Amino acid sequence: MEPSHRHAAATTDLVASDRRWAWVEINREAIRHNLKRFRRHLGPDVRIMAIVKADAYGHGAEEVARIALTTGATCLGVASVDEGVRLRLAGIGAPILVLTEPPIQAIELLLHHQLIPAVYNRAFALALGEMADANGRPAPFHLKIDTGMNRVGIHHSDAADFLRQISFHRGLELQGTFTHFATADEVDTYEFGRQLERFSVALETIRYMGMNPGIVHAANTSAALRYRQAHFDMVRVGIGMYGLYPSRAAQGLIELHPAMSVHARVNCLKAVPMGEGVSYSFTYRSPGNVQIATIPLGYGDGLSRVLSNHMEVLCKGRRLPQVGTICMDMTMFEINQRQSLKTPRVDVQLGDEVVIVGNSGQERIALDDLARSLGTINYELACRFGLRLERVYTE
Ligand SMILES: *Cc1c(COP(=O)(O)O)cnc(C)c1O
Repeated sequence: MEPSHRHAAATTDLVASDRRWAWVEINREAIRHNLKRFRRHLGPDVRIMAIVKADAYGHGAEEVARIALTTGATCLGVASVDEGVRLRLAGIGAPILVLTEPPIQAIELLLHHQLIPAVYNRAFALALGEMADANGRPAPFHLKIDTGMNRVGIHHSDAADFLRQISFHRGLELQGTFTHFATADEVDTYEFGRQLERFSVALETIRYMGMNPGIVHAANTSAALRYRQAHFDMVRVGIGMYGLYPSRAAQGLIELHPAMSVHARVNCLKAVPMGEGVSYSFTYRSPGNVQIATIPLGYGDGLSRVLSNHMEVLCKGRRLPQVGTICMDMTMFEINQRQSLKTPRVDVQLGDEVVIVGNSGQERIALDDLARSLGTINYELACRFGLRLERVYTE
């Protein structure tokens, strides 16, 4: 082998931030801190399901699952069978709930990996029971009740009947019953109260018919923080575990630390003369006396192109304007070479660290800031930054 190839084979020993000057940092201690805060906020009998769907909102499902299970969470929630299988293959043995009912075709895989499905269709329930019965052990499932979100779940007024219709099956074991709130984030509590009421009635009816709903759960982060009456036996915590508030209404109710930050290093630096354009379509032209710095991260990494010329980055504790169109793999920012008493010149060098989300000196850019500029929510941005950027975990 050529020496250069031998060298290439050894690159996996390099930390991500030395392979590419753009990476996401995940602070494990922040996740532990957040879970402890939830633990303290909840009653001693309320369990925590850690929601690790979408690769733990971009934070890395395997890593987050391990932290959560050793810091107060007793089980995990995912969106698909694939996400559950990946955790199993990583050696995680805790109970895993698939929050959406999977296709019937996936039942064999689901049972093989001992994943627990949400159930709300009769055909799925019966197929699950049949296959579990054939394997000689009943399949645990959680009944998902639609109390008003009108997304998935069995209608609240049909829930008890549905259970009665499938309860003959010895291959099925009702392990839990849950619902999901559409407006736990909203300031107005009317719709929330109505969903809670419908859920309570459905539970009562199930019990009245002599069936045991098992582990009862309803609350996401917002409801867990805002409504004690929605805690039941377990809460499903996603965004809060990552240190982000689901909405203004929940802001600051407990002290959370964001776990994710996004970093890059300057990989090119040049003076661009006055009037010359920068990046595609020249949406920015140099005002003169500036340096243009490039970082190797772009919309392919989750930094939306919509933010072009409308965001800032942090470098050496200073806010610097992003300029020019954000490219798929690269983004530029401007370093003003003029200095005044108020704003001394920043001396930026090749290889200097740039913070896209996180802290630098006294300055800070939060995922919420970018989300607000984009008209979306922190959830979406966390997921997106987790898609291509490599992660570096810090204590
Ligand atoms: C994603 C999800 C959650 C977690 O919501 P957060 O607001 O992130 O806490 C809880 N329950 C269900 C059904 C979900 O899909």
